[in-house]
Formats: sequence, structure tokens, C-alpha cells
Amino acid sequence: MTSTLPSSLPAAEARSGAVPSAVPAPVSVRIRQRLEQAGVPFLANDNIAEHLLDGELDQLEIEVAGKVRELLRSLVIDIENDHNTEETAERVARMYLHEVFKGRYHQQPKIASFPNVKKLDEIYTVGPISVRSACSHHLVPILGNCWIGIKPGERVIGLSKFSRVADWVFSRPHIQEEAVMILADEIERLCEPQGLAILVKAQHYCMKWRGVKEPQTSMVNSVVRGDFRHDPSLKAEFFELVKQQESLLMV
Ligand SMILES: [Zn+2]
Repeated sequence: MTSTLPSSLPAAEARSGAVPSAVPAPVSVRIRQRLEQAGVPFLANDNIAEHLLDGELDQLEIEVAGKVRELLRSLVIDIENDHNTEETAERVARMYLHEVFKGRYHQQPKIASFPNVKKLDEIYTVGPISVRSACSHHLVPILGNCWIGIKPGERVIGLSKFSRVADWVFSRPHIQEEAVMILADEIERLCEPQGLAILVKAQHYCMKWRGVKEPQTSMVNSVVRGDFRHDPSLKAEFFELVKQQESLLMV
């Protein structure tokens, strides 16, 4: 007579008929429960770093690697015998958690701001700043450039800090329109400018590599806040400065 016990029951428990002991919930489940209890959103482009406990990111890396291994198996790739994909699962897990999506799991880089003691109020632009992201829909790259225009307010930050914060914000799964808004929110929080303008031009690999396969199409969008929104001449000056910065690239 064949056994009707589920094959997943460990042999000893199967023999004794005991109920399997509770397996601890995967770390991702524990983190999700914590976020839900705190009412904290964890959409693809949200940062959850401050809700992770010590050591959880390492545990998450192990869990994600396991799931990627299962994905490769489901894609019928012989990871046991294929020397090229043998450690792909571990690489992908590290890449997602610590590189391309680090802006979800890691804290914002330390960015010091200083009082605007000289009361500077002339606008300036910084760019191009390279931005790299992935679309939330397919998880394939979005690569582009960003320009930031500032009319200083109470505080100022160093020029290189704009690159750091942009990299942190864009290193999440995104749609471009939301990425620009989130970057604007972060810059406003950091230096409370009187005016802020951001322009992003990016190529989307979900249009180039798949789908319609348009190799040249790009998406351009911008956000203008404060004085850039209220004063059309200031807004025009921002776009003119960006044009000049772009022409420098041709030299
Ligand atoms: Zn896509």
C-alpha cells in the first residue's frame, strides 16, 4: 500500500504522524508585516531602509538568491551544470539589494547642508548628472541624464551632493514621472530652495530592447517648483542654461 502522506513532511514526522513544527517566517514576510503594522508604504520606489533591523539585509540577500535560483529553474536553465549561471542567483540578489535597487534598502548618503550666509539668490544649474534606474513594469534599465536648477533659499548643499541624492533616488524600480517628483521632494527637504527645476532625459530599455523595439526614443520630463513655477522668465532661463550645458557636451 502506498503512503498518502504529503511528500513534503519530514520523514520522522511522517512516521510519527506529528504535525510539523512552525517554520519561522521568511525575513521578507517579517519586514512586510512590520511595514503594514506601521502603515508605511513599500511600493517599488519607496525606501524602506529605516524599517530594516540589523542583519536583515543579509538574510534578505539569501532569501532573494533562493527565489532567483527558483526563477532560473522555472526558466528550465540547468544551473547545476551550466558554469555560466551557477552563481547567477547570488549575483542578481546582490545586484538588486546593493546596487541597482540600493535606493530602496540603503539609507540616503549623508548630505550636509549649510546656511546660505551670503544670501545667494541667483539661479544655477547642475548637469548632466547620469541617472540609472529600472522600469517598475519590466525591471529593465532606464538610463539617462538629469539637470537640476536651484534658486537658493535658506540652505545650500555642495554640487556633488546632487549626484549622490539623484543616484540614491533613481536606484529603485520606477516610472520616470515619479522618479523626478521623488528627487524634487528630497532636494527640497535637503536645501529648501526658493525655486527648484529638474529635467530628465532618459532612454527606456523596455522600449528599446523589447516591445516596440524603438532604439532612438527617449522620454523627457521636468518638474518646476517655487519661483521656477511662478516666474516664466526664470523657467525659460533654466531651460536655456540646460541647452548651454548640453552644447558643452558636443565640444
Ligand atoms: Zn517597462
